[in-house]
Amino acid sequence: MSFADGEPWPRNPETFDYGFPKPDPEPIGGCPTCADLVARRARCRKVNNRSGATDMNVLCRKHQDEEHITPEQRARTVEL
Ligand SMILES: [Zn+2]
Repeated sequence: MSFADGEPWPRNPETFDYGFPKPDPEPIGGCPTCADLVARRARCRKVNNRSGATDMNVLCRKHQDEEHITPEQRARTVEL
């Protein structure tokens, strides 16, 4: 049995993309805030501080949502 996308059912958990965990956010252009947060994430991982690394990813995504969003993206954003 398979879905319309051709993937077998049941899904193979080793290969199926559940969309989580999300990929690490990447720094944008020469932005010093992005670069700082990514460097801090690397330092956290170096000492096996995975909670701290996740915090840096959250802060980086929040920063990018606030500072790097285009007017077109902002117009499509729904405030909750
Ligand atoms: Zn940035």
